[in-house]
Amino acid sequence: MAPLPRLEAHIDLAAVRHNVALLSGAAAESGAATMVVVKADGYGHGAVAVSRAALAAGATWLGVCTLEEALELRAAGITAPILSWLHLVDEDFGPAVEAGIDLSVASERHLARILATTDRPVRIHLKIDTGLSRNGCPPAEWPALLDAVEKAGDQVEVVAVWSHLAYADQPDHPSVDRALARLNEAWELARARGFTPIRHLANSAATMTRPDLHLDLVRPGIAVYGLDPLDRPVPESLLRPAMEFRARVALVKRVPAGEGVSYGHEHTTERETTLALVPAGYADGVPRLLNAGGRMRVRLAGRVRPVVGRVCMDQVVVDCGDDEVHEGDTAVLFGAHAEGPTAQDWATELGTIHYEVATGVHGTRVRRTYSEE
Ligand SMILES: *Cc1c(COP(=O)(O)O)cnc(C)c1O
Repeated sequence: MAPLPRLEAHIDLAAVRHNVALLSGAAAESGAATMVVVKADGYGHGAVAVSRAALAAGATWLGVCTLEEALELRAAGITAPILSWLHLVDEDFGPAVEAGIDLSVASERHLARILATTDRPVRIHLKIDTGLSRNGCPPAEWPALLDAVEKAGDQVEVVAVWSHLAYADQPDHPSVDRALARLNEAWELARARGFTPIRHLANSAATMTRPDLHLDLVRPGIAVYGLDPLDRPVPESLLRPAMEFRARVALVKRVPAGEGVSYGHEHTTERETTLALVPAGYADGVPRLLNAGGRMRVRLAGRVRPVVGRVCMDQVVVDCGDDEVHEGDTAVLFGAHAEGPTAQDWATELGTIHYEVATGVHGTRVRRTYSEE
């Protein structure tokens, strides 16, 4: 048998299916369909594999950021509706339209460019800015955008009016209700022109906390991957983390007391101990900021153990005390174990969010592998 990979992002597709079933079940109770967001290569989990698992588990739509991401899914044979939403004004929309990709439109310039690059029928989701001030049409420009859509005539089908929340993770924040009201105003203006679009607004957090925001379609991303949008710890969350980031011990050795460990000797052994060398470093998505003061831990030989000394480009050193560890043992950097470490643990240590941790696992040395169970 081939040896296990030295460094791997292992994706549990059964966890993805579990999470999607939970989310799409909640959406279905409101009469809403589910678009699983697989941008950024499925938040670092592999867009194609996640898409297939999601569609098998109850999702009927897929959402991506770029035309390239959308076309990758079509090239893999995925025929479900796909929405792509962040485009430059000089892109060639022809191939995406030909591939049946729905396009988000937030300006007259983008609509004009789409129509300049294809003669085929175009399906668009008109995006209104409801308070995020990011990628959406400002309400003041909405009537002019609707004029332009009307002028385009039969070539354009207005599939949806949609938006994205600024405070979805604080479901009671007043801006959330304001966003819904603004979305509804924009939707009514579109309907007054004779269009019959659906509406969508909710990301993971809103899908899990605000059924009144489910509307026709929900767009969960992070929760699909099992990372809790409300930061509930793994044992309390209904979601199951899908990624286990892990590496196999390259070298084990006994060192005496008083030895400096790793660059700059930020750690000195207090007594004789066993050190395990784990071949994962900042080039692979282990942030060097996890350095200071034992902020990084790994699960190795049945226990959570501290990384000692600096995170290097290619490796970290784990203090195993007097316990028995072996070369070739698997060290879990983060995963789904209730005792951790989890992606959320890293995010807490780093003062960031688990979204950045999961999408930060990268590089040519990390092998992505999948299991069904
Ligand atoms: C990324 C994204 C989502 C998914 O958000 P999560 O917080 O990961 O659930 C939904 N909609 C849009 C427009 C996005 O960019």
